[in-house]
Amino acid sequence: MAVTAALGTALDPPTLRTLPDAVAANVATALARTRSRMMAVVKADGYGHGALAVARAAVAAGVDWLGTTEVAQALALRAAGLTVPILTWLNPSGVDAQAAAAGQIDVAVGSVDALEALGGAPVRVHLHLDTGMAREGCPVGEWDTLVEAARRGGVRVVGLMGHLPLADRADPAANAPAVARLRAAGRALVRAGFAAPLTHLAATSATLTDPSTHFDLVRVGAGLVGIDPSGTVGLRGAASLTAPVTHSTTVGAGTPVGYGGTQVTARRTNLAVVPLGYADGIPRELSPEAAVAIHGRRHRVVGRVSMDQLVVDTGDRRVSPGTTATVFGPGGGETPTIHDWARWAGTIPHTIVTGIGPRVRRTIA
Ligand SMILES: *Cc1c(COP(=O)(O)O)cnc(C)c1O
Repeated sequence: MAVTAALGTALDPPTLRTLPDAVAANVATALARTRSRMMAVVKADGYGHGALAVARAAVAAGVDWLGTTEVAQALALRAAGLTVPILTWLNPSGVDAQAAAAGQIDVAVGSVDALEALGGAPVRVHLHLDTGMAREGCPVGEWDTLVEAARRGGVRVVGLMGHLPLADRADPAANAPAVARLRAAGRALVRAGFAAPLTHLAATSATLTDPSTHFDLVRVGAGLVGIDPSGTVGLRGAASLTAPVTHSTTVGAGTPVGYGGTQVTARRTNLAVVPLGYADGIPRELSPEAAVAIHGRRHRVVGRVSMDQLVVDTGDRRVSPGTTATVFGPGGGETPTIHDWARWAGTIPHTIVTGIGPRVRRTIA
């Protein structure tokens, strides 16, 4: 017998709930490991948790800078009433330098071209050195040219930044060359007549593990939402993802489940359908341990994850439609975490949280 939520029954929709208290706790943990000031990095919509919610929680917890990858995102934070300094980098579609200046948004610049594109607007600039990623920032060999262009252009250089290539492990020895490069770049700036810049290099991993990288400011993104790439500190997951069971059914042994019938029930059991699929960011490639929690207990995902739904095996338990299934939560009990999902999908937790799709309702606890 199968039971489906009656048409017209109002079930709570799939919901990602951001937990500001967890963000605050993670900020406190990170602040306890540094004597520098901290920037909250809220790119990619606050790592999928809502840039504004994460920014507000972080500022309330003692962070005094915000960072993001586009001026437009920074202006949205300003418009929402956040008054702390905000830095933007990357800016893939260019910089509206007048808007940045008017909104008091700082801009990171790593090339003479990018500097000239500011068109002499009175925007505050952080010069960005490539400290070993070959991704963004000025190559070391071109640094003096960039500094000279900034001097001649009368650019308001207030900051100096680099980014560490080893974000995913704790390795101070490996960070040393980047630290030395950044120091040398700072000396070149001062020699050219600039005031000593606000210098920053570390992201979450180095913030938690390597004080030699902290300089004046550390930039923490993943750590805010409970991800410690260094794997050394217990942080708190800052969101829960829930959805109502929409359908449940009792099936006999030998029943194929889902597309391709890749999994067949071993015995008579109960199945429950959860309306979240790969279009919502649930990974399609999962190890057999993948599970969601219902009534505080883990139940495994069976068969292929579909575009809009997944099926779990609830064993002897018949789950009525409308019951809440928790895909991940902040941790504790049998509720899976984003780290569990990353392991089950063979990825990093960043891709889990940034991948949750737009159909999922967002709310703040
Ligand atoms: C994303 C990013 C950060 C934050 O990195 P986490 O490891 O998520 O803390 C810091 N700096 C730059 C330049 C970044 O792009």
